[in-house]
Amino acid sequence: MSLIVMKFGGSSVGTPERMQRVAKRIIESHKAGNRVAVVVSAMGDTTDDLIDQSKLLNPNPPAREMDMLLTTGEQISVALLAMTIHQMGHQAVSLTGWQAGIRTEAVHSKAKITDIRPDRLFKEFDAGNIVIVAGFQGMTEDGDITTLGRGGSDTTAVALAAAVKADVCEIYTDVDGVYSTDPRVVKCARKLNEISYDEMLELAHLGAAVLHPRAVEYAKHNNVKLVVRSSFTQNEGTSVKEEAVMEQGVVVRGIAFDKNVARISILGVQDVPGVLANVFGALANNGIDVDIIVQSGVQDGKADFSFTLSRDDKEKAVSVIKSVREQVPFEEVTSEDNLVKVSIVGAGMVSNPGVAATMFAAISEIGVSIKMVSTSEIKVSCIIAAEPLQDVVRALHTAYGLDTAEQVFVGGPQDRR
Ligand code: ASP
Ligand code: MG
Repeated sequence: MSLIVMKFGGSSVGTPERMQRVAKRIIESHKAGNRVAVVVSAMGDTTDDLIDQSKLLNPNPPAREMDMLLTTGEQISVALLAMTIHQMGHQAVSLTGWQAGIRTEAVHSKAKITDIRPDRLFKEFDAGNIVIVAGFQGMTEDGDITTLGRGGSDTTAVALAAAVKADVCEIYTDVDGVYSTDPRVVKCARKLNEISYDEMLELAHLGAAVLHPRAVEYAKHNNVKLVVRSSFTQNEGTSVKEEAVMEQGVVVRGIAFDKNVARISILGVQDVPGVLANVFGALANNGIDVDIIVQSGVQDGKADFSFTLSRDDKEKAVSVIKSVREQVPFEEVTSEDNLVKVSIVGAGMVSNPGVAATMFAAISEIGVSIKMVSTSEIKVSCIIAAEPLQDVVRALHTAYGLDTAEQVFVGGPQDRR
């Protein structure tokens, strides 16, 4: 008998018909003799609708109350799904995050899970129940309700799978799996059969929305076997695991892009020790995440810095920087946000020189100039103008042989060592 965690996103349970389809799928897995825990998100756009509703009454609501409000979305889904399963003649019980033993740190709107006490789940399994857990929510030691950040239900699923030592955590979504790039942008984007945790983590961080980065991180650290698959088809999906096999001759696994990019430049900064620590310390203290940082050479004792960050944080970051002007004298701060970050990811690039050069050449051939670059062992990211993004992604997809890569895998994971 296997223990399976199945996670269904908001669009998979967005209508009564979809809810019924999901219920059937869960029942099939239960009837096959598995113990099944299910994690669901709020139906359709419920979370966004609740946010809109709150704004009508308070544009800047207390984070605690926001968490109280938003967690209701998932509570609706779990109750309705459990009822649907009962109607189909099977036993199910719905649990809130706290009933399922999910404890978090005392931070509202983006709490991290600190631990899971799964006793209740096992009690329900023993009673023959399918257990339906509300995603995206938990509770602090003091009994306050928290949420895990937008898209946090993936993390709930993976964390539960780790806590109950599930055989697999299946993430059901509205696409067939993880693709070489966004199929809405490049028609010949291909579904990947396998991808490694590290590659998936990069892709998720770099803008591939199919899995939440924190969930992938959690899966990697706890060695949770993840499968991403469609809730509408029986196709096999993509497995995310420690080592994935590369297709013949392919060094880049996927291309991601992120449109939520702004750049801030601080010009004429006096080159004294502690400048970076002061600026980025102040940004961090204000909860602002910074991505790529570039410093120009020093001239006449002054340097320029640029860094990228999420567009939503741009205004706040500019005012934080102005507030440290006394400690960090500078001439000017400027910002722009008509930018995107496009990235190539693949474990194979470690041992293949020239991968970045191919990227730069492909981008320059369509007349686009690269404003910033950052690299890691398995990725290269370029900041470029927001247009023409589609052409850039298409060109890269072709340049790395992803349009035509053979579907045949060479060898097993052990062959790569
Ligand atoms: N309902 C939450 C959101 O929309 C959590 C999730 O979907 O995973 O962000
Ligand atoms: Mg959602």
